[in-house]
Amino acid sequence: MRCPYCNGDNTQVKDSRPTEESAAIRRRRVCEDCGGRFTTFERVQLRDIVVIKRSGRRVPFDREKLSRSVEVALRKRPIQPERIERMVSGLVRQLESMGEQDVPSSTIGALAMEALKGLDPVGYVRFASVYRDFREAAEFREVLDEIAGSAQRTDAQGAASPAPPVAETVGRKH
Ligand SMILES: [Zn+2]
Repeated sequence: MRCPYCNGDNTQVKDSRPTEESAAIRRRRVCEDCGGRFTTFERVQLRDIVVIKRSGRRVPFDREKLSRSVEVALRKRPIQPERIERMVSGLVRQLESMGEQDVPSSTIGALAMEALKGLDPVGYVRFASVYRDFREAAEFREVLDEIAGSAQRTDAQGAASPAPPVAETVGRKH
């Protein structure tokens, strides 16, 4: 496995253990060239999914790429990495169960947006801005109105849920 920091080939597995109720193996790796540490996950892939890009180009589905774009959207948000992994696993299973070998990238983006909507509103807006390729502030406002609208509907239904906390989780410093 190539080091993501220096691209060196000399990486070693330091630790390897089952995770996600044994659906995956988590390996901690360290690079002997730069000392960089990173984690990889090994999982069953039931089907080979091919992504059809907007340009029409076909590329093999890359779970890591999806995972990275979700992680970028959730950067510094109080969401545990394990939850992000579970969310990505859920997305992959949804894709696998669609029964289609070829999946348009727009379908993957829409699924990820739907999942993020429930997980973290800030991450959702960030992901939407990249995925929908926002060019104007007005487009941000649209998505924010969308979120505000669904929050109001929840209030109107008399939900007992408290207002979302303004501050991020206490005790997490980055
Ligand atoms: Zn390295």
